[in-house]
Amino acid sequence: MTAQLIDGNALSKQLRAEVAQRAAALRARGITPGLAVVLVGENPASQVYVRNKVKACHDAGLHSVLEQYPAGLTEAELLARVEALNKDPAIHGILVQLPLPAHIDAQKVIEAIAPAKDVDGFHVASAGALMTGMPGFWPCTPYGCMKMLESIGYDLRGKHAVVIGRSNIVGKPMALMLLQKNATVSICHSATKDLKGMTLQADVIVAAVGKQKVLTADMVKPGAVVIDVGMNRNAEGKLCGDVDFEGVREVAGYITPVPGGVGPMTITMLLVNTLEAAERL
Ligand code: NAP
Repeated sequence: MTAQLIDGNALSKQLRAEVAQRAAALRARGITPGLAVVLVGENPASQVYVRNKVKACHDAGLHSVLEQYPAGLTEAELLARVEALNKDPAIHGILVQLPLPAHIDAQKVIEAIAPAKDVDGFHVASAGALMTGMPGFWPCTPYGCMKMLESIGYDLRGKHAVVIGRSNIVGKPMALMLLQKNATVSICHSATKDLKGMTLQADVIVAAVGKQKVLTADMVKPGAVVIDVGMNRNAEGKLCGDVDFEGVREVAGYITPVPGGVGPMTITMLLVNTLEAAERL
């Protein structure tokens, strides 16, 4: 069997067109959805990410502001900027690009963002809302994975989903979203004793580890849906995921590629969250 690809670029294009339409409707009512992206320091990867986010906003007709500060910005100065953005009526979503320099407490900064503008979904109020099924912003990467499952019409009810990874930004919220859709969910991590034994039982596998070839063909049940969140560089310096794509695609029913899978969906869901933040006003 050769798995069907879930194309994150194509799905993103469709969803971003919908965002652009809804943004135009809001603009007609005098509201331009606005995102502020705050970058501290000169991390080259972060610079690429923030530029892509700002460009995606622009392309979808959203207002965006990029605030760039030197690595020496103090925590107090950053908190003051977040507070000013909380009060700015032109800004509906605030994203502070992580990682922050070591002298700044990232969690403290995230908690300073008004929950109504927390479009990254990292605030403890957003995490609590997801956990309890209340309205709130879902973290963009796992939210994008859910949209990919939705795009193939996959009914999660009663299915066994295995999430590999338990970070606050991907693994844990991913597990909660799958649970909310009535999957039976297992979460694996570095202390899991028999990862292969777990994944072989799975109807859906989400790999969010950050290591190449964590999931190989012998670990996948025929026909399973495999979502690859990982972003790694292989020996040739090429972007690759956590899944041994060439092997697993021969066993799985559906698979997401890297690049062109979850990556573009993350930015797309940031646009969706920013739009919804403006629509909720
Ligand atoms: P993270 O915070 O480093 O978490 C990695 C998780 O993997 C941890 O829970 C860790 O377990 C677990 N793990 C490590 N080795 C393992 C193993 N051998 N078997 C099973 N579990 C193992 O990473 P993250 O922020 O969640 O990101 C994960 C990956 O997704 C990275 O490659 C990252 O670049 C990528 N990512 C992509 C996007 C996107 O837009 N596509 C967005 C975010 C992240 P412990 O908790 O026990 O340490």
